[in-house]
Amino acid sequence: MIFSVTTFPQVILHPKKQDTFWDGHPWVLRNSIVAPPSSIRCGDIVDLVLPDGTFVARGLYHPTSRIAVRLYTWDSRHILDDSFFAARLNSAVEFRRQSLQSNHQQACRLVFSEGDLLSGLIVDKYGDVLVLQQTASAISRFIPVWVEQLKQLFDPSAILLRIDDKTAAAEEILSQDSVLWGTLPEIPIRITENGLTVEIDLTTGQKTGYYLDQRDNRMAAAQLAHGRILDLFCYTGGFGLTFRRHSPRASLIRSVDSSERALKQAKHHLQINQLDSIEYVQADGFDYLKQLVDQKERFDTIVLDPPRLVSSRSQLESGLRAYYRLNSYALQLLQSGGILITCSCSGRVSREDFRHMLLSASRNHGRGLQILEQRGAAADHPTLLACPETDYLKCFICRLP
Ligand code: SAH
Repeated sequence: MIFSVTTFPQVILHPKKQDTFWDGHPWVLRNSIVAPPSSIRCGDIVDLVLPDGTFVARGLYHPTSRIAVRLYTWDSRHILDDSFFAARLNSAVEFRRQSLQSNHQQACRLVFSEGDLLSGLIVDKYGDVLVLQQTASAISRFIPVWVEQLKQLFDPSAILLRIDDKTAAAEEILSQDSVLWGTLPEIPIRITENGLTVEIDLTTGQKTGYYLDQRDNRMAAAQLAHGRILDLFCYTGGFGLTFRRHSPRASLIRSVDSSERALKQAKHHLQINQLDSIEYVQADGFDYLKQLVDQKERFDTIVLDPPRLVSSRSQLESGLRAYYRLNSYALQLLQSGGILITCSCSGRVSREDFRHMLLSASRNHGRGLQILEQRGAAADHPTLLACPETDYLKCFICRLP
């Protein structure tokens, strides 16, 4: 059935803010619209229109969030109902089934929010447990639809909902982390990644429990990692463990993180994989690097995978300075011929910004730095061209000649 565009309340764009929405960016910030009627409630379907009433896109409204409307279609014939959102999830799942190697399908990102045109919804699969991360309040009423669908598609033993505190506050979501379906397994979930057994901490781990996005980068870095290796911001051990298994030229491996819980898990991973000789150090990454520079230490391979250092536009400058500090220290520590694997998971930091930062750092300490690979998140985290924030993970593999 085809509805006319007047079926839904209209949210009017400011005349000067039109361009990005035609391109397909799914976020309409509050300062981009003319104040809508107060009767529109959270989750209501609205049409984004030009001042003359021309239809632009259709989305879901939030009365207080910085993102006033999340857009899901640019086709006025689409109705944002249960079957529309079910079809979107289906398409995302189908893509993984067709494109991911079968050994990656047991642990992968099934839905990547804006990257899959489902702003606000992340679904990660860890074995037969599915973890939903909700980042938008407006999609709440579709969650039961997706849960039913995921039950049909995967017959999971449990479906978990996780909402981080920052999102809950910004989006005014009341619900807490909860089990939406089934029962959580009593023993930890184990997945296999790059020939390693990894245990997922489903309830207290960071994000949905693990960083699947670095899966292929860990392996790519392992091809080049050698000698004395420093793995900074290691979480549950990802890069260091991959090197121990796959980098025959690795000698010392030292993995560093500030989280005691993450390090405990990393040591456990070392043990269950029957590997040894990784040193684990609990420290602040910035302080620790400075200390190593003061001690005139040297490494052949350094991984920098810090947490998100830029969360908003206002933090861009200070965040880039922090990335600069980390990378400057790392370049001072790196031997000639050494490999630097440097990452940023800040969606607000563009590849251009990141390259500039690296250039400044290398100007002072590592002229002639070569970039061997400019990588991003694994393919189950697709980037939406119109939404640069989805290109959040930068992972540059560099060499100091
Ligand atoms: N490299 C990891 C993922 C890193 S996530 C992997 O391959 O899985 C970022 C990590 O930085 C988290 O484990 C977090 O505990 C840690 N972290 C955050 N702030 C830190 C700090 N100031 N110093 C050291 N580690 C920090």
